[in-house]
Amino acid sequence: MPGSKGWKHVDLPRLERGYQLVTTGLGLADTFGRKFKYLRLSVTEVCNFRCVYCLPDGFAAQTCGSAAPGLLRSNEIQNLVEGFARLGVTKVRLTGGEPTVRADILEVAKAVKSVTGINTLALTTNGYRLKTLAGPLKDAGVDQLNISVDSLTRQGFHSITGMDRLDEVLAGVRAAQSAGFESIKINVVLMKDRNDQEIGDYLRWAKSEKLSIRFIELMQTHSAAGIFEEARLSLEPLRLRLVDLGFKPKTKALTEGPAQEYVHPEYVGSVGLISPYQQGFCDGCNRLRVSSTGALRLCLFGDETQSASLRDLIQSPSQQSELLHRVNTLLKLKPEAHGLHQGRLGNIQNLSQIGG
Ligand code: SAM
Ligand code: SF4
Repeated sequence: MPGSKGWKHVDLPRLERGYQLVTTGLGLADTFGRKFKYLRLSVTEVCNFRCVYCLPDGFAAQTCGSAAPGLLRSNEIQNLVEGFARLGVTKVRLTGGEPTVRADILEVAKAVKSVTGINTLALTTNGYRLKTLAGPLKDAGVDQLNISVDSLTRQGFHSITGMDRLDEVLAGVRAAQSAGFESIKINVVLMKDRNDQEIGDYLRWAKSEKLSIRFIELMQTHSAAGIFEEARLSLEPLRLRLVDLGFKPKTKALTEGPAQEYVHPEYVGSVGLISPYQQGFCDGCNRLRVSSTGALRLCLFGDETQSASLRDLIQSPSQQSELLHRVNTLLKLKPEAHGLHQGRLGNIQNLSQIGG
């Protein structure tokens, strides 16, 4: 069975016997009372950029040139999302790797959006194809876009991403604005001496345009240990700067991601901070992840005991009740928090493997 090897680590029959289902009236919940209305679905591990904190040597170097076998097909994705929608998920994010390297990304987006109960479809991209794809993605049902723009200078962008493509990516942001997306977020992984001197430029961007600039704290991964030591920055000084400037924290909706959003009456846009090392960050976890080959991943930084394949149960719509049962059962294994503070990085090498 393609993609099923990931769950050899999890004794499903024993788990299924030993735990009682707790599908609440409100949908999926774990043993810590957290509700899951948000699914992040990786549609490929392949990427054409070489971000210093993610794939510093490029995708081909990581995999010896071959992509992970057996990407989920769009009919499997539809069966999967139908199952999660029946469990109360209302928002799906397509991510990767770079989701737009998939030739059938529009078909995938349409398949997900066609599922009853999925109200919001989001996509995270490095923006390299957005100039031409923004309109078609909107027409295919994508509501929200996150676009990574780690520097606003050509040289800075090139040195962080390995690609001299700032102009194309900014043209992609403008194309997304013209296409009328309900929400556009700009992801910026904040790094010492690489882009922290540009914070003022990003804030000016948020002041004049309806965008949310998301500053993300650099996370440690196996592939990018060096850059973590060298460039990691706490976002706390930036938070204090925002408060000093008159920004106020905004209340979060249930399906919103991990960012704490800040708004200001004189800013058309807003600013978000994602601080995974902050105390209590995992308390508000509302998302589950599925890999591009169909493995449910309970925590971004979990090991193989927190990942299991669902692929054998998404071959036909008739398998829905077994799928729901397995997801519910696995959810009992979701840990209370990641182990980053204890140096436990889990078994993924970098975030391109599951989507950040
Ligand atoms: N390729 C797409 C992109 O870059 O937007 C989607 C996948 S990427 C893994 C998703 C997000 O994770 C990006 O915003 C990226 O900047 C972020 N990311 C990747 N590695 C990270 C790390 N080590 N620490 C913090 N953020 C990271
Ligand atoms: Fe590719 Fe996104 Fe990773 Fe950059 S962060 S290398 S664009 S997957």
